[in-house]
Amino acid sequence: MTATTQGLNRFLAAAKPSATYRVMDRVAARRAEGKEIISLSAGEPDFDTPSHIREAGVTAIRCGQTRYTQVAGLRALREAVADKFRRENGLDVDWRHTLVCTGGKQVIFNALAATLNEGDEVVIPAPYWVSYPEMVQVCGGKPVIVECGVRSGFKLTPSLLENAITPRTRWLILNSPSNPTGAVYSREELLGLAEVLVAHPHVLVLSDDIYEHLIFDGLAFFTIAQVEPRLRKRVLTMNGVSKAYAMTGWRIGFGTGPAWLIDAMEKLQGQQTSGASTISQYAALAALTGPQDFIRESRDIFQRRRDTLVERLNRAPGLHCEVPAGAFYAFASCEGLIGKKTPAGKLLLTDEDIVNELLDNAGVAAVQGSAFGLGPYFRIAYALDDASLERACGAIAQFCEALSN
Ligand code: GLU
Repeated sequence: MTATTQGLNRFLAAAKPSATYRVMDRVAARRAEGKEIISLSAGEPDFDTPSHIREAGVTAIRCGQTRYTQVAGLRALREAVADKFRRENGLDVDWRHTLVCTGGKQVIFNALAATLNEGDEVVIPAPYWVSYPEMVQVCGGKPVIVECGVRSGFKLTPSLLENAITPRTRWLILNSPSNPTGAVYSREELLGLAEVLVAHPHVLVLSDDIYEHLIFDGLAFFTIAQVEPRLRKRVLTMNGVSKAYAMTGWRIGFGTGPAWLIDAMEKLQGQQTSGASTISQYAALAALTGPQDFIRESRDIFQRRRDTLVERLNRAPGLHCEVPAGAFYAFASCEGLIGKKTPAGKLLLTDEDIVNELLDNAGVAAVQGSAFGLGPYFRIAYALDDASLERACGAIAQFCEALSN
């Protein structure tokens, strides 16, 4: 142990840095060196925040709304959040049982930090968003990873869930539409999982619904508290404005759950960041209460991009990609590239090798599937304009074609 690491909290020391941010940092470093990189790495919409929302932020500044809010958020925003859960998710939510946080990430982190004791288990279906296991780890818990491969549509099944639950299970984390696969749970699938959960009353459920509005082909969105009211007392339903309204940088997430949990999360936040940015809260209020056309418009654009991208990926030798039902990610299997050599003689042994070579030689940044708990795959975020996406697809295809056995 060195002088610099010996004082670190041991749970933090054992956690990995965010894989998505690592790739984003590498993109920034390459660009700073003057290299042209097409980034398919960041999970954020490429659109500007709609103008009426930006204006609400500007107005908040102009009107001097620049002081603290209550820790749990502006009452008007919490009421709008409760109304959103009622209107869109059929959840009868009291605004007092909502909490506004600095991004969806803080909702999740607050919930885990407020409830986990050392060794408590958290069931996480894989592929998972890179931060779930690391947040659990940082909070002293034990991630229990359940591999959900392509055969179950990258989704957790009731029998896999039943086998993963032990007396130490504290949480199950569900994410639909999923980052990184875009998989969407149907009402029936959620009911199947709910049936198992009803039989295990000690398990809390965290439903990460951040991609709720990015769902394609006319599919309907369901969240577990809505389909199984018997679970409501132990579900934390979380969401935010980042993906739905292209507001990633405003950092506003929110959640609703049982009063004891929301109170504990508020207590934690009160000793940490306090309320989220006041200006951002006013903008989020405008997002939730103003015109909603942007949601439909951006969804249509993402669906069109998805169709082009998946078709192009499936034409590239060695790649295979299922059609994702939601989010703005494609999760492509690169098994067919493993064991091949680049023209420079580099042997590709893992998906990480492949994304490194894609970045350095094809100028395209993606994130390796192994960071999401399932390899050999890579994740592509298709949140970028048509022309760049077209160039990226061309570069990926060329990279695959140039490999030899
Ligand atoms: N959730 C996004 C992603 O997966 C944003 C980056 C992050 O927080 O991981 O790319």
